[in-house]
Parts: sequence; structure tokens; C-alpha cells
Amino acid sequence: MLIDMASDSPREGQIFRTQVCVIGGGAAGLTITRELAKAGVSVITLEGGGLKESKRSQEIYRGENLGRKYFRLHRSRRRYLGGSTNCWAGLCAPLRPSDFERRPWIPHSGWPIGIDEVGPYYERAGELLKIGPFHSQLDQPLPVGQWMKGSGLKLEGFESVFFQMSPPVRLGKLWREELKALKEARVMINANVTHLQLESSAEAMASVTCKVFDGPQFKVEAQQFVLACGGIENPRMLLNARDVMTQGIGNQRDLVGRYFMEHPHIDRESLWLPGGATPSLNHYRRQKRSKKRGRMWPYIRPSVESLQREELLDFSLVLFRRKNIEREEKKHPLLRVVWESSEHLHDPTKAPKTPRAYTFGNPMEQAPNPDSRVALNESGERDELGLLTSTLTWRLSSLEKRTLRRAHEMLAESLAGQDYGRMRVTPTHNLDTFPRQTKGGYHHMGTTRMGIDERTGVVDGEGKVFGVNNLFIAGSSVFATSGSANPTLTIIALALRLAEHLKSLSRGQK
Ligand SMILES: Cc1cc2nc3c(=O)[nH]c(=O)nc-3n(C[C@H](O)[C@H](O)[C@H](O)COP(=O)(O)OP(=O)(O)OC[C@H]3O[C@@H](n4cnc5c(N)ncnc54)[C@H](O)[C@@H]3O)c2cc1C
Repeated sequence: MLIDMASDSPREGQIFRTQVCVIGGGAAGLTITRELAKAGVSVITLEGGGLKESKRSQEIYRGENLGRKYFRLHRSRRRYLGGSTNCWAGLCAPLRPSDFERRPWIPHSGWPIGIDEVGPYYERAGELLKIGPFHSQLDQPLPVGQWMKGSGLKLEGFESVFFQMSPPVRLGKLWREELKALKEARVMINANVTHLQLESSAEAMASVTCKVFDGPQFKVEAQQFVLACGGIENPRMLLNARDVMTQGIGNQRDLVGRYFMEHPHIDRESLWLPGGATPSLNHYRRQKRSKKRGRMWPYIRPSVESLQREELLDFSLVLFRRKNIEREEKKHPLLRVVWESSEHLHDPTKAPKTPRAYTFGNPMEQAPNPDSRVALNESGERDELGLLTSTLTWRLSSLEKRTLRRAHEMLAESLAGQDYGRMRVTPTHNLDTFPRQTKGGYHHMGTTRMGIDERTGVVDGEGKVFGVNNLFIAGSSVFATSGSANPTLTIIALALRLAEHLKSLSRGQK
């Protein structure tokens, strides 16, 4: 059932009861809702927005950036049914098995669960996101060239892989009719959750309070609760609930909101001039489409062994063709020097007819860092619903800087070593600053991270908040580390896994 609380208004103070209450109707929340309702578990899903974007709802997301330059918070996500899948680009890839492991050179790395816990859900997650047959076997990603004629670059220390592309699906729209038909699901839209109410013992959630704009306030009581409001709102909701636990829910160790991670996208303008030995680069130059396999995007990424040897964060490189090489030469006088020192380009039998140049896009992993964080606005600023707004302090560390530099140096060494041409690496050896154009990827991760206990995380390996028996968190806020893959495929895989767990709990409680 889909219920619009703005038109189908509840009575002031009305109480709804259900087995599971899901807070947030985005990718994570709707996945759990469908799974539970189909298994006969009664679920109420509370979505603050409506069926379309509205300025008033987006305003609730407004916050302040205090750290690195970042997107405006109310524009970096969407607050209506389907959440940010209403605007996402659709790039999908699983995390690598090594992403879950503790890597001694990355402080705070290591999940309490391994790939064996998440891997079994990736294929189904891929089906839900309509990415075509899921082929990215976790330990053996499909190399570029395997299904197309010709071979990709065979670079020492690197592998070429495809990320898969969702059409992209807008989950609120895609699943709307189905949600209407699901008897066990009551999906309430225009239902803004304003408070998470703990029992006085603080050991369990009692209810959530909801507010309809210009309308009544009502409550939902449930046996289990799932918070699925996205990587910035999940900590904000926990930190705002301070009536029973004065520091906020799950925040006994001051971890809620900390370890905010993005995927820094740093296009370093490294320029690669292919030599005569270069195989066909068609594979790398644009998205691939195939009826059978869907859309795919080719990436070059380091092998796990090279990351371990170099003690780096994970990163991926995507190739862009530089169109106007003549103009480039004027802009970068060094280019001419590199160009002329490339012996292949001087050999008329080997040199390509027209000069070509490429640059590399560079999405990368960010190390978990307790000082990179979401917090409540200390000035006391509140949103229209009365909740304290958030501040984001996005911080990067020297490990990201070293990874960025080595990523391009390693690639340059490999390209030259295999006679694929010469690479001009922009000299950003100044380790004090990142390139000005450093951006994020709209991926909000790590702010209620998984840990082995409450000293290392906010939730346990199942996604349950330490110390609160019936409160679970879904979404990328639970990621302990982020890898360099886009997060949504893993968000859905984890949501499917959590739904399984909730089903088993509900069977016990019926
Ligand atoms: C421009 C853009 C491009 C992106 N491209 C990609 C990509 O290519 N690949 C990829 O993997 N990811 C991408 N992402 C990220 C991706 O969209 C998110 O990872 C994903 O949507 C997060 O899902 P979620 O369910 O955890 O959170 P959200 O999608 O944020 O959903 C949270 C839901 O909770 C609701 N909510 C919030 N507060 C309340 C409240 N108080 N009460 C009730 N409901 C509430 C919101 O309205 C929303 O519907 C992109 C994001 C953006 C913005």
C-alpha cells in the first residue's frame, strides 16, 4: 500500500503498529520493504518526501560545509520516494574481497564481516538495479577484451575491468505499482520522521515520531526499526535523539558521524601519448553497450598485489581522449618535450598517423578518518521540522595524496615499460594541497560504521546499533572502508542481507 499522509491524513497523535518500521524510502529502505512484505512480514516505511522533488523537502537537507570544498548538502542527494536513485548515474561494481580486510597501512581498516557475507547478495542486487548479467566475479573481474575483439592494455601491476551500468533505475518510480499492491507493506509518503524514541532503559527503540508538513504528528511502534535515510541523515537522526541518551543514540563512544568518506575524484591532467606498440584503445574510450550484457564502463585499476606492495588505498583510472592536441601543446609546453622524446613517435613506421592524447579520471578510496565527520550545527540552527541541521567537515589525509601520486607514477612506469608510449605526470609533488578541482562522487559513507565492538564502530556485523536491541542501520553509512567502487550495488546487497536477518527475527517474534 502506498499512503500519502498529506492527503490521507492521520489523526493528531495516532499510533500505527507493525513488525518492522523502515525509516527512509531510498535504495536501501525500499529494498528491505519489498523483501519483508513479500515474505509476509508487516512493514511500515516512512518516507519524508512525496512522489516528486519539492523545494520544501529538499530544504530539510540543508547543512553547512566546514571542511574541504564540497557540494551543497541539500543538492548532493534527493529527498523523495526513491531517494538519490532519482538522480544517480548508475555506475555499479562490487567491492573487492581485499576491501573488507584489515590492511595494516590503512588506519581503522577492516570490516567485521568478509566478502563471503556480502558476495552471495551481489548477483540479486545487480538484477534489482538492472545492470544486465552480473559478470564481475569477485576475484576475477572480466578483463577488457574478453568479449570484444582485440586486447586491452596489458599493464604490469594493473588490470582492466568493466564497471556495469544501471539504465539507471529510479527505484521509487520503478517499484511504485508493486509497493501499492503489496498487502503487508504500508509505504507512507510525506511522513517526516522527527524523533527516534528509545525506551527509558535505552536498550531498545520504542517508537518513532512523524510529522506531516502543515499536518498532524503521529507515531509508529514496531518490534524492529531500520534507519535508512542516507549517509548524512543517518548520523543526524541519531545525534538529534538526545532525550534518553544525552549524547545521541549509539554515540556512547562519540563515533556517530565520524569517519565520513567520499570517493575523491581527482583528475590530475596526466597526459598519455600512446606510442606505436599501443593495442586498440577503443575498449577504453567510451561506454560499451550490448543487448545481452547491458551498458559497461571500462576502467584500469591496480592489482591487489600492487596495492599491497605499495601500501596504497584502492583507486581506478578511466581514460578520456584529449580532443585538441594542438591547443594542448600550447597550453602545456612540456608536452612538446615529452612528445619529442618518445622514440616510437619518431619512428615513422610505428607512430600513429594523427597524434593522440589521453588523460585519466581518478576516482579513489578515502582512508577512514575520525576527523572527517558529520556533526550537528553548534550554532543551534534547526530545520523546519525542529531538528538541528548538520555540518560536514570533509577531510583527506596524506595517504590519499601519496596514493594519487603513486597511481599516476605507477601507470607511467608501466606504460613506458611496455612501450605503450609516454606519460606526462602533472607535478603535484606539493603534499600540502590537493588539486583545486578535487571533487567527491556524491557518495556518503562511513558515518555509522560497522565495527567489532562499540569502541570500533556504531553497528555490528548485522547492522544493529551497539547497545540498542532492535535498531538497525542500512546504507553506505555502515561501510567500514569504501574501496574505489561506487557504493549502491553494495548498499543493495547489504540491504538484502539485512532483510534476511529481519525475516528470521520476525519469524521468532510472530
Ligand atoms: C548525482 C548523483 C550521482 C550518483 N551516481 C552514482 C553512481 O553512478 N553509482 C552509485 O553507486 N551511486 C551513485 N550515487 C549515490 C547513490 O545515489 C546513493 O549511494 C544511494 O542512492 C543511497 O541510497 P540510500 O537508500 O542509502 O539513501 P538515499 O537514496 O539518500 O535515501 C534516503 C531516503 O530517506 C528519506 N529520508 C531522509 N530523511 C528522512 C526523514 N527524516 N524521514 C523520512 N524519510 C527521510 C529520503 O527522502 C530518501 O528517500 C549518486 C548520487 C548522486 C546524488
